[in-house]
Amino acid sequence: MKKPKQAKSDFDLVVENAFDFFQKSLEEFDKKPKYSVIHFHAAVELIMKARLLWEHWTLIITRPETANLKSFRSGDFQSVSIKDAKARLEAIVQEGLSQAEYECFLRLSDHRNRMVHFYHTGNTGNKSEFEKIVAEQCLAWYYVSRIFERWNEQFQSYKKGIAKIDKVMHKHRKYLKAKFGALGEDIERLKSRGILFSVCPSCGFKSFGEDSGNEPILDYECLVCKARETGLKVDCPKCGEENKLIGEPRHECSKCGHKFDEKDVQAFLTKDFVYDKHDPERSIVAHCDECGGYEMVVEVNHTWICSQCFSKYASEEVGQCEWCGSLSTGDLENSYFMGCAMCEGKSGWDSDKDD
Ligand SMILES: [Zn+2]
Ligand SMILES: [Zn+2]
Ligand SMILES: [Zn+2]
Ligand SMILES: [Zn+2]
Repeated sequence: MKKPKQAKSDFDLVVENAFDFFQKSLEEFDKKPKYSVIHFHAAVELIMKARLLWEHWTLIITRPETANLKSFRSGDFQSVSIKDAKARLEAIVQEGLSQAEYECFLRLSDHRNRMVHFYHTGNTGNKSEFEKIVAEQCLAWYYVSRIFERWNEQFQSYKKGIAKIDKVMHKHRKYLKAKFGALGEDIERLKSRGILFSVCPSCGFKSFGEDSGNEPILDYECLVCKARETGLKVDCPKCGEENKLIGEPRHECSKCGHKFDEKDVQAFLTKDFVYDKHDPERSIVAHCDECGGYEMVVEVNHTWICSQCFSKYASEEVGQCEWCGSLSTGDLENSYFMGCAMCEGKSGWDSDKDD
């Protein structure tokens, strides 16, 4: 949908403001860590607001029912927090925030609030707190970059600005060097237990441990910045080459260049079930409440994993919707009335009839 001119330019102003805050935050880290924390948080919040603004300007106001265009333009209004933004993105934008992204941004809010309302030991020269802040910032930027890819339609004209912050962020990692150095022994010990280490996509150190004890599911955790990811070992449907997909299905085959998507992953994970003649009735796929993926969650080694967003669920988190009968993750307590990840239950059906 094409945006009205004015709304588009408000969007641009907010995004530019966010980039300015990112830049400032990283520049002032050395001398004014307190402002770095506050400005970094403001930048992340502004990106969320920009995305809501793209949909409609009233969405960034705490109480949209009080929205007034004149006070909006003069900046005289209370705007949404990251918590509100998540709920609104979920309700309005199909591709909102993942749980991991949200929790990371909440930690930024927590640091920020402690800086503003109390004091923060990271601001008084405590080295490990300093490292914690930088690690959080690296992780948050990693997530924000992923979000930019998901929201490509809105942010595609900002590729240059994103690359510029990315460069500064790389330099920012120098504060984590000491922490990485101190982990040498831990890394060697884990290596001898079969954990593989590769370069962390968030902080850039070779501290991204891969636990393959539950293949084809791979569990990653960075010892430096605590970035966590779930991966999957999946054979390429074109050439058969085994590929490691980290965090998401989008990936190019290392041998033939085939572009993987969630359907390839789902097909790979369900390939052995297709011929299960003993129990043809058994449903093997569930809808994903986290990303809204239709029949994307598959049971692998007693864990249910989504082929689209790689969220993992325990068996008890998967159930049958009492309205549509399909398997789904998420809250199914009142599914007869409220539905599941894919249907709106009886209440949705009733209101459709009323229309
Ligand atoms: Zn890391
Ligand atoms: Zn291939
Ligand atoms: Zn999912
Ligand atoms: Zn349902």
